[in-house]
Amino acid sequence: MIQHTGRHFLQIPGPTNVPDRVLRAMDYPTMDHRGPEFQVLGQEVLEGLKAVFKTEAPVIIYPASGTGAWEAALVNTLSPGDRVLMFETGHFASLWQSLAERLGLTVEFVPGDWRSGVDPQAVEARLAEDREKAIKAVCCVHNETSTGVTSRIGEVRAAMNRANHPALLMVDTISSLASIDYRHDEWGVDVTVAGSQKGLMLPPGLSFNAVSEKALAASQSAKLPRSYWHWDEMLGPNAKGFFPYTPATNLLYGLREALIMLVEEEGLENVLARHDRHAKATRQAVEAWGLEVLCRNPSEYSSSLTAVVMPDGQDADAYRKVVLERFDMSLGAGLGKLAGKIFRIGHLGAFNDLMLGGTLVGVEMGLIACGIPHKSGGVQAAMTYLAAEPGQAVSGHERRQAS
Ligand SMILES: *Cc1c(COP(=O)(O)O)cnc(C)c1O
Repeated sequence: MIQHTGRHFLQIPGPTNVPDRVLRAMDYPTMDHRGPEFQVLGQEVLEGLKAVFKTEAPVIIYPASGTGAWEAALVNTLSPGDRVLMFETGHFASLWQSLAERLGLTVEFVPGDWRSGVDPQAVEARLAEDREKAIKAVCCVHNETSTGVTSRIGEVRAAMNRANHPALLMVDTISSLASIDYRHDEWGVDVTVAGSQKGLMLPPGLSFNAVSEKALAASQSAKLPRSYWHWDEMLGPNAKGFFPYTPATNLLYGLREALIMLVEEEGLENVLARHDRHAKATRQAVEAWGLEVLCRNPSEYSSSLTAVVMPDGQDADAYRKVVLERFDMSLGAGLGKLAGKIFRIGHLGAFNDLMLGGTLVGVEMGLIACGIPHKSGGVQAAMTYLAAEPGQAVSGHERRQAS
């Protein structure tokens, strides 16, 4: 039995901590989803989401986990046997690959070392070779949550442009949206896939497709079967704020509140800067402990999580078990081939300096408790950095509540 005396620290890289304000915003009677009050809510969230994706394009909301939005992106735009280019950045990229294969797509999976992002030069080289334009889509995971590596999507787009290739660009932003800089329109992304339970600070249960005009045009001739996921079925009623089937009404109450907090109050750019700062403080701690960050390339460091390599011969899962049982904190496990070899510190969503401080204290106490070889002073290094580099004076998250 884990004793909860005070708050549990949910420091996995999603689902993330849900602010009290968002929980309270959902604690209302469910309304008629075909009535006038719902219409106002529907219009507000459908419109409000665009700022987070940095798009003018429609954003579709599904009552589904992120995996559903992956499927929706593929079945709306592609036909059986179509060739898609994917990159083995880690566990989530591998899951997307399996999903695509189960749907009957032909996946070209570019091998990777699970410590690096998508290589824009590799994208350009492969597309330049494809003279018959057989590749219909390039699919990337923006922030590979299993490794803490963020791919440079703007550079991937530039590489596609240099190759002058018409493939669609699809990007999974499930653990980067509202945490790491992302620009659907500017980067010419055709389908952006996202979920509710990470940077958007909501419980699991919603997922999203932001859809470019080019993707919409592709959907008119795509032949993969689809019904529940059909964009046209959604976009019709969405134009008036409604949904074709019962939406997750109470999650939408929460989404409305989260958008107020992120966009109107704190401001999206401040949200992103806060994540960068907490990630940097975390890396300073890891470095001071003498441990290794899994991500190889500093230009690909993730601002939503940090994956830490366990010293040789130490079991990351045994360590995480001690941290959970002794300090009531959940850290992320190594997934797939990284199982037992790394642990992941989530620092995304509703989060502040003292929550990060508590998180790092828990990590360091766990290292001591388990006798894992390390240098002391990680928490001190993070404190020194955070104290010297002030963030936003008021995060805004609790401002409305306090007033
Ligand atoms: C969490 C996550 C997923 C899986 O989303 P579900 O909501 O569990 O279906 C996919 N991709 C990335 C990058 C993720 O972080």
